[in-house]
Amino acid sequence: MNLFYRSTRSKSELVKASQAILRGLAEDGGLYVPEYVPTLDKSLEELSQMSYQETAYEVMKLFLTDFTEDELKSCINKAYDSKFDTEVIAPLVEADGAYYLELFHGATIAFKDMALSILPHLLITSAKKNHVKNEIVILTATSGDTGKAALAGFADVEGTRIIVFYPKNGVSPIQEKQMVTQKGKNTFVVGITGNFDDAQTGVKKLFGDKELVKVMDTAGFQFSSANSINIGRLIPQVVYYVYAYGQLLKENKIEKGEKINIVVPTGNFGNILAAYFAKNMGVPIAKLICASNENKVLYDFFETGVYDRNRDFVLTSSPSMDILISSNLERLIYLSTGCDPDKNAAFMKSLSREGKYQITPDMKDNMTDFCGNFASEQETADTIKALYEKTGYVIDTHTAVAAAVLNKYRSATNDHTKVVVASTASPFKFTRSVMNAIDHKYDAMGDFELVDTLSKLANVKVPNAIEEIRTAPVLHDTVCEKEDMKSIVMKFLEIEE
Ligand SMILES: *Cc1c(COP(=O)(O)O)cnc(C)c1O
Repeated sequence: MNLFYRSTRSKSELVKASQAILRGLAEDGGLYVPEYVPTLDKSLEELSQMSYQETAYEVMKLFLTDFTEDELKSCINKAYDSKFDTEVIAPLVEADGAYYLELFHGATIAFKDMALSILPHLLITSAKKNHVKNEIVILTATSGDTGKAALAGFADVEGTRIIVFYPKNGVSPIQEKQMVTQKGKNTFVVGITGNFDDAQTGVKKLFGDKELVKVMDTAGFQFSSANSINIGRLIPQVVYYVYAYGQLLKENKIEKGEKINIVVPTGNFGNILAAYFAKNMGVPIAKLICASNENKVLYDFFETGVYDRNRDFVLTSSPSMDILISSNLERLIYLSTGCDPDKNAAFMKSLSREGKYQITPDMKDNMTDFCGNFASEQETADTIKALYEKTGYVIDTHTAVAAAVLNKYRSATNDHTKVVVASTASPFKFTRSVMNAIDHKYDAMGDFELVDTLSKLANVKVPNAIEEIRTAPVLHDTVCEKEDMKSIVMKFLEIEE
């Protein structure tokens, strides 16, 4: 049976998974959602015996029903291979009464690799299936991690080009270095003078620019997105929640059917939405705890039912979560209306016009699986230090936001359900903030001296992704105003204006 996808904003046509992956965003500006969330057709006991790749197939085959078994398995095997530095792909580490699901063992040592190592293959396969002749141009706005993970995924993949926009002063030095040293003839990296939301809004505008799309088509190009709005990003993220539950079962950490909680450090709401999908597929999950940094728009939303982006944007030590418009929340809003695209579209219109909307009490009742909290910069740093001192385990700043929120949640509710914390980045990606949290005596050290010190302290080998950039030359130095994004794209594609 085929599972179709529709837009969150209108009752327009149904599309197949491969078409939704190709388009990224629906034509009406909405996000694609599956008509329903499929139920796992293997038991969790069976799944617990499977490798990551086998689990990925069992989960993804239910969503990507127009892919053949061969096509899907080929995509999975090309993605989850020796690019990852551990065969289990996503290990669980127990520390201080929680299970940290380490999603950072891929090429760029952050969780975006989990989806972005497979997206290029899903995309190329989708293009072939739909007889697409145009070259595919990936357009991405990044708050740091997506950019590099997308660049790494798409570099030199035939039939694709990739353009990444990042906020010039809104990413960590290591994140920036990782991006501007990217190799690959089809890659293009641009810093913009604005914040992440400016970059994201600019990219959305380009996607919606009908004139540009026409000019591109004539020149033999079409846009697609690698941002977390693409279902080709969302679906692969469901896999590791199913896998984590299976691993806990296998290791007898939980009993059959036992419910667990999940804490996710959240920005664009993609990762936590994937956990929600896993729950709806049949994984016994009780609470989904949404952890925010000081940009706590989601915490306020879950508390009050009002989503309000009219506030100061805070630059924090967890930059990948410095977001005021959580794109993927739209899918939850849509689902909570009982799948009413008109109602959802009205909320999104209000968001773009007034920067806010208020959901109805009925909709709020449909979101009781979720709860939110946030951690201040001080709480985040204190959590890194305390966990390190107690256990020797070092977590990055994003994961620390989740750990801090978990502590708050436990003392507020006395809910001591076993819990999986999504660990979204290696501490080596945010070394300065991490070391600074542990002890200020490290403040004077240079970036790579810090890396080596962290390696000794945590007793973890310096990841390859960091070793590589020690000496890599800068290959991208374009910086532009947010108004000039369109002309930059045309220039890169060598299209005459
Ligand atoms: C992207 C990212 C997040 C936020 O994930 P969303 O899916 O956008 O909510 C959290 N931590 C890290 C390290 C990230 O790169």
